[in-house]
Amino acid sequence: MNSPQIRRLDAREPEFLSTLDALLAFESGTDSRIENAVTDILAAVRNTGDTAVIEYTRRFDRLDVDHMAALELPEAALQAALDGLPEAQRAALKTAAERVEAYHRRQIVESWDYTEADGTRLGQIVTPLDRVGLYVPGGRASYPSSVLMNAIPAKVAGVGELIMVVPTPDGERNPLVLAAAAITGVDRVFTIGGAQAVAALAYGTQTIPQVDKIVGPGNAYVASAKRRVFGTVGIDMVAGPSEVLVISDGSGNPDWVAMDLFAQAEHDELAQSILLCTDAGFIDAVAASIAKLLPDMPRRDTIATSLANRGALIKVSDLDEACAIANRIAPEHLELSMEDAEAWIGKIRHAGAIFVGHWSVEALGDYCAGPNHVLPTMRSARFSSPLGVYDFQKRTSLIQVSEAGAQTLGPIAATLADGEGLQAHAASARYRVKA
Ligand code: NAD
Repeated sequence: MNSPQIRRLDAREPEFLSTLDALLAFESGTDSRIENAVTDILAAVRNTGDTAVIEYTRRFDRLDVDHMAALELPEAALQAALDGLPEAQRAALKTAAERVEAYHRRQIVESWDYTEADGTRLGQIVTPLDRVGLYVPGGRASYPSSVLMNAIPAKVAGVGELIMVVPTPDGERNPLVLAAAAITGVDRVFTIGGAQAVAALAYGTQTIPQVDKIVGPGNAYVASAKRRVFGTVGIDMVAGPSEVLVISDGSGNPDWVAMDLFAQAEHDELAQSILLCTDAGFIDAVAASIAKLLPDMPRRDTIATSLANRGALIKVSDLDEACAIANRIAPEHLELSMEDAEAWIGKIRHAGAIFVGHWSVEALGDYCAGPNHVLPTMRSARFSSPLGVYDFQKRTSLIQVSEAGAQTLGPIAATLADGEGLQAHAASARYRVKA
């Protein structure tokens, strides 16, 4: 294998920021072939429900059944998958689930209210969603960690019913995925996928109940379908390719940094791995580690393409400059790979998750540290947050005005309503004001 190509940049170069912005730019371009296919699938499922879902499952997943019930997995099948796992896998899954649950329990928001001196009570009522659909990808690979990261916050929030869909091409079920569903207490599981599964959850079919929100990642068909059903149901987000940014002060082991960049790059060819480092010698060492370690990676082709496409090793003058660039990038994952890492946390304003110090590698957060691994991508950490319990809770305002309160608020509301020319508003407020 040739020496892998990864661009080297220097933040002092005059064109640096425009080069960086071009590197970050990612348009999740719409492929009209996919969009047209999804239009047809959504319409068919909406019109004929189970019949269309069964037909598309036969066509795309080569799973031939004549009624929808055959595409639902009984609870016993989930439990059997859990019981049948090798002990080490079962223990790892359970420990990861416990840690993720413990973390998310701290995110629960309670209802609150307060009463003013005149007896008016105002507040916010927090209610879990009634029913949520969880999409677990299963076309080409399986993602048990996705089950944990999506199902656990929903359960902690108190969601009434959690319905999971996971395609099982050729009928091949992934035991870890089913075991994760058993551990997290998913209520129902259907072995369907793609746009037809999203449509079934969004519109409901004769067998699959309509949900209120759909969460979970998937391929371009799934992403397009989720975008299109938004409004009929809520969705979590439409995620872009995964990203890591490592800030290094030149301390630590260059092999570790190289492998952390690989860990992101192995996801897919559009994943983004960037290093910002104050030490040119350390950048050379990381480049040497990349060349040394890559040939032994089973996914070396994907890694090499991803690093060449969207990766970069960037020399910065100092750590303040690195933090400023990090805030511009607003990465999904940020590793502070430096001696005094904790001191720099306060300089970071925009990142999905911050991994502090040499021991805090992203892979631990991906699977088991506790925080959610569903994080904002494509610079959206500037305005959005990791998936959490709050995504499965909604808020209702409470307004309980006392008679005395109506005397104070009525004239204010009526005056403002008059100003807007809304006479009925003004009158309804004034009716409550005593002469
Ligand atoms: P998938 O479950 O998303 O898609 C499989 C389904 O796609 C099939 O069931 C089928 O219905 C549909 N499909 C396939 N070809 C089709 C066609 N020609 N026409 C219509 N429908 C078709 O599984 P996947 O394909 O393995 O993709 C998983 C995706 O999820 C990957 O892109 C992966 O990167 C992503 N992912 C992201 C995260 C994250 O956290 N961001 C985590 C896990 C996976």
